[in-house]
Amino acid sequence: MAVEIKTGLPVCPVACKYCMASKLHLRADYWKQCKRIGLNKSSVFINRAPNDPSLQEMNFPWDLFQWDYLGYQGTSDCFWSIFKDDLRYLVKMVLKWNIRRLCLISKIPITDEQIEILNPLKDGRRVALCYSITGMDALEKTTTKSRIEALVRIREAGFKDYLPVIHPYIHGYTPIKEIFQELRDNGFKEFSFKGFRYDPEGMESLRGYIPEPVLQQYEKGGQEVLVGEEEVRKLASEMGLREIGVKDFYHRNPMPRTTSSTIKEEKEKLMGIINHPYTVISSSASTDDVLNYCASRRL
Ligand code: SF4
Repeated sequence: MAVEIKTGLPVCPVACKYCMASKLHLRADYWKQCKRIGLNKSSVFINRAPNDPSLQEMNFPWDLFQWDYLGYQGTSDCFWSIFKDDLRYLVKMVLKWNIRRLCLISKIPITDEQIEILNPLKDGRRVALCYSITGMDALEKTTTKSRIEALVRIREAGFKDYLPVIHPYIHGYTPIKEIFQELRDNGFKEFSFKGFRYDPEGMESLRGYIPEPVLQQYEKGGQEVLVGEEEVRKLASEMGLREIGVKDFYHRNPMPRTTSSTIKEEKEKLMGIINHPYTVISSSASTDDVLNYCASRRL
């Protein structure tokens, strides 16, 4: 890969005070080592930092992504305007390399131009669009309302695979009932929710917003912690909302595979990704487990 990338922490204009990409010491080493490809049970994903060459110039091993689910940006926001040309290029690559689905998660409201760029992926359901809905406007530079409106516009534009994801869900701080109410009022029937990774040092400013006893529930060395899940599920069911995991959402209604392959062949391709100097396995599961899971989802 002829990539000249610079080291440094991720940059994102949403500037969440709890940013799990830039404010976790646990992860900082990945970015200092220029890790730009990630692999986990949901997808393979690629990152581009603002100072990197464009996605087109970075020459990722696209052939190794065939029949997989591809995410874009785990360290910034895919709808940041500076990544518009990347988005255009990604659409081309998804179609060229039979990548099953482009999986995007954002907090920046999508523009009409970005909807237009993604349009070629609409037929065949080749793009899955998630918005992170948090209800924590004081901690982010976009608003929950603008993100729900973005999801509505995506739905109205005819995309079939869109999902509000309550992430992070911070038990005792996230206004979950209000969020569910907004989702229901706007015609959404499904949602997902995920826990929170807390780093008391990297996220010191959170103490000015979130009560200490709430934060203490999450002091688990930067691991993702989900508290209060039964309460969230009970409330969702009372309000007529159905939960779906993000991984299941990405993988449902897959584009049928038109070439034959075996687990062994897919594992070989995946080893090409795993052995790449810019790859990191971003999963708490073992490498073997991730490898087997990723190989199966490609068949
Ligand atoms: S949107 Fe994501 S990458 Fe950007 S600051 Fe927030 S948590 Fe970090």
